[in-house]
Amino acid sequence: MSAFRARKSGAMARVTIALPHHRYDILIEPGLLSRLGEIVKGLAPHERCGLIADAAVLKLHGDEALGALESAGYRPVVATSQGEANKNLATIEGFYQALLRERLERGSPIIALAGGVVGDMAGFVAATYLRGVPFVQCPTSLLAMVDSSVGGKTGFNVPEGKNLIGAFYQPEVVIIDPLVLRTLPQRELRCGLAECIKHGVIRDASLVEFIRENLDPILALDPDTLAELVRRNVEIKAAVVAEDERERGVRAHLNFGHTFAHAIEATTGYGLIEHGEAVSLGMVAAARTAVEMGLCHRDLLTDLTTLLEETGLPVHAELASRDELGAAMKLDKKVSDDRVRFILPDRMGNVVIRDDVPADCVDAGWQEIGG
Ligand code: NAD
Repeated sequence: MSAFRARKSGAMARVTIALPHHRYDILIEPGLLSRLGEIVKGLAPHERCGLIADAAVLKLHGDEALGALESAGYRPVVATSQGEANKNLATIEGFYQALLRERLERGSPIIALAGGVVGDMAGFVAATYLRGVPFVQCPTSLLAMVDSSVGGKTGFNVPEGKNLIGAFYQPEVVIIDPLVLRTLPQRELRCGLAECIKHGVIRDASLVEFIRENLDPILALDPDTLAELVRRNVEIKAAVVAEDERERGVRAHLNFGHTFAHAIEATTGYGLIEHGEAVSLGMVAAARTAVEMGLCHRDLLTDLTTLLEETGLPVHAELASRDELGAAMKLDKKVSDDRVRFILPDRMGNVVIRDDVPADCVDAGWQEIGG
C-alpha cells in the first residue's frame, strides 16, 4: 500500500503558490466542483460572474458548476468555445462581446471551466477585460490540472505560431475536482500523464516511481490516487513558477521533450498527433540525446521508455524527413541566437539546459523514436 493512502480519503489538499506580487491556493479534492460558488464568493463577492467554458465540458459538468455558482448568489454569464483550432483572437473577441453585452463589471470574477485551450483564453480575457478582473481556474483535463492552470501563462494562437500572443496573469484560486476526469477521453488522460511523467523526470524521481506503482488505479480513475497525482504535480509546477515566473531560467525545464515535440507537431500537421503524444516521443528523443552526450546512464532512457509505453503513450512514430524536422526545430520559440536549446536529463529527477548539443547526438535522438 502506498504511503499516500494513509491520508484521510477525500481530504482537501492545498498547495500555495507564493510570488512576490501575488499569493494563491490550488485546492484539490474529489467533489470540489460542488463548492465552486462558495469558494469564489469568498474571494470575489460580486453579484455577477463570467463562466468561460469548454463547450463539451459545459454539457457534462455545467449543471453542477452553474448550480454551485447560483446557490452562492451569482448570476453567471456563460460563453463557450472548444478546440485548438478556435484558440484565436476571433474567439477572444466573442468572449469580450458576451461579457460586455451583459455589462460584467470590474469586480466580477471570470471562471474558466475547461482544459488548457479555453483555460488559456479565459485567462487572457480576465487579464484584459476592463484592464483586468479576478480570475479563477477550474481545470477539467489532467493537463490543465497539472500544468496550464498553474503559473499564470495565458494566451492564444496566431497564424504565425502557437501561444505567441498572451499575458502572464495569475488566478485568485485554482479549484481542482479530480472527479471531472471521469468524463475525459482516455487519450486525453494519457496525454496529461505525459506531462506528469515530465515533471517527475525534471524534478522528482519519486514521482516517476509513484506513477509507475499506481498506473492501474490512475488509469482506472481512482479519485484519491488522482488527487494525490495532481497534488504532487502541482507542487512541482508551483515550485518552478515561484522560482521563475517569467521563464528566464528554471521554468524552461518544463520544456523537457518539447524541442523535439514541437518539431514533430509542426511537421506532422497540428491535430494529427496530440501534444502529449508528441511530448512522449520528444522525451524519449531527448533522453537518448542525453545518453549520446554522456550526460546520463542508458538505464534512464530504458526506464522512461518503458513507463511511457505502459502508460499507452507512443515511443516510436513515422516522422518527417530529418531535414524537415531540423528546419522545424530551428523555427521554435526556444531558439536564441540561432542555437537550439535542449533540456536534457543528467539523472532521473534532474535536467540541465544545453545549447551546444552536437548534431549527431540530436540525430541519435530522432533515430531512437523512428526518424
Ligand atoms: P483541451 O482544452 O482542448 O482539452 C482536451 C479535450 O478534452 C477537449 O476536446 C475538451 O473538450 C475535452 N475535455 C476537457 N475536459 C474534459 C472533461 N472533464 N470531460 C470531457 N471532456 C473534457 O486541451 P488540453 O490538453 O487540456 O490543453 C492543451 C492546451 O493547453 C494547449 O492549447 C496548450 O497550448 C495549453 N497549455 C498551456 C500551458 C500554460 O502554462 N498556460 C501549459 C501547457 C499547455
